[in-house]
Amino acid sequence: MYDPKSRCADDFINHEEILETLDYAWENRHNRQLIDQILEKAKLRKGLSHREAAVLLDCDLEDKNQEIYQLAEQIKKDFYGNRIVLFAPLYLSNYCVNGCVYCPYHAKNKHIPRKKLSQEEIRQEVIALQDMGHKRLALETGEDPVNNPIEYVLESIKTIYSIKHKNGAIRRVNVNIAATTVENYRKLKEAGIGTYILFQETYHKESYLKLHPTGPKHDYNYHTEAMDRAMEGGIDDVGCGVLFGLELYRYEFAGLLMHAEHLEAAFGVGPHTISVPRVKRADDIDPDAFDNGIDDDTFAKIVACIRIAVPYTGMIISTRESQQCRERVLHLGISQISGGSRTSVGGYVEPEPEEESSEQFEVSDRRSLDEVVNWLMGMGYVPSFCTACYREGRTGDRFMSLCKSGQIQNCCLPNALMTLKEYLMDYASPDTLEKGLALIQQQIGEIPRQRTREIVQERLAEIEKGNRDFRF
Ligand code: SAM
Repeated sequence: MYDPKSRCADDFINHEEILETLDYAWENRHNRQLIDQILEKAKLRKGLSHREAAVLLDCDLEDKNQEIYQLAEQIKKDFYGNRIVLFAPLYLSNYCVNGCVYCPYHAKNKHIPRKKLSQEEIRQEVIALQDMGHKRLALETGEDPVNNPIEYVLESIKTIYSIKHKNGAIRRVNVNIAATTVENYRKLKEAGIGTYILFQETYHKESYLKLHPTGPKHDYNYHTEAMDRAMEGGIDDVGCGVLFGLELYRYEFAGLLMHAEHLEAAFGVGPHTISVPRVKRADDIDPDAFDNGIDDDTFAKIVACIRIAVPYTGMIISTRESQQCRERVLHLGISQISGGSRTSVGGYVEPEPEEESSEQFEVSDRRSLDEVVNWLMGMGYVPSFCTACYREGRTGDRFMSLCKSGQIQNCCLPNALMTLKEYLMDYASPDTLEKGLALIQQQIGEIPRQRTREIVQERLAEIEKGNRDFRF
């Protein structure tokens, strides 16, 4: 039985409900009247149900599709302005006991070099990341209770937060590790993590079991109920995602939105972020071996429909995608991107030779962080290194209410401008610096409250004198 409040994965990601949703969406894919009704509801910016959103995803009326894209763009502007938050992944260890068939870290892969960073090596990686200008990381590890126990992850977080190199600091550590216990989630919360991220990979249980044939990750229910345990452990910012290409995208889309509805129904707060990775080539992995790959048009439509369905949820795209693809989906709803990423263990200090790489997947966007920052500004976006919300206790529903109250322009834009200024002073190339200073000057005028504008001006001057870490 479909029940969004249930704590059992089979109820809140209910297979029959997804099949019915897909039939309903397909039957109504050119039902103009219904699509108009759904678009009217979407314009209220309070989101859509998975069924309604599925109809928009299947819609094949050209004019209505244009409306969908325009609305996604407008909602993105209303809630997120033109800010794009930047982060980088940090791979701690690729030891893994699982058998995920799409991932090069799978236990049977004997030719990938296995590596685990020592605390000293983490220090070196973090210094390299700080020297690029990063303030926000996503920690990544394989699942291995012997090599990567929770104590190792906790110690690594402590190390990362302790490093202050020149003017650098990592101010927010998000964590992407395998599903774990309530007790371990509580420890992660106490260690001061930002978001706990876990990709579902696929919501299709039968496929999930085949794609994860061995290891603890084989347990579909344990994996799917992980966010519930994270919430119980006190982590109220969780990040969902599916790995597009493994199963039919329409199925995954409905599952993803049902997961968001479940978190909202059971805990009063939906996912903080949704990621939209696609399967990529990697050591021992040929993405063409998976039949459900999606083209860039479908990918853009998925991003737009997620934006409309869950307007308050941040959306993340990584360097798995090319510059061109990222450019296309940025204005449709993406609010966070990675830049200058290395997906190998230790890759920031020592880029590895291609033949024996421990890379998790091939990165398509290989530009430096400075190039990414420059490119974003060239398109009129404000690159942001802000980490203020969780440090000010604005997590879970408190973050959502900030978003809903429309106070973002008085809070997030100032924080974006101040952290961009820090980046420009400490790390930017001359061209990026020039563009950035002009952008900040122009954007200050967009802050609605006069008093806030004055404070921002004062703090920008302080940053020029060498002071750091101001926030609203
Ligand atoms: N090991 C953790 C777990 O079990 O959830 C997560 C860390 S893993 C390093 C991060 C994510 O990379 C996975 O959840 C998966 O979606 C993604 N991934 C794995 N293989 C990939 C591939 N070939 N192409 C793109 N993404 C991949």
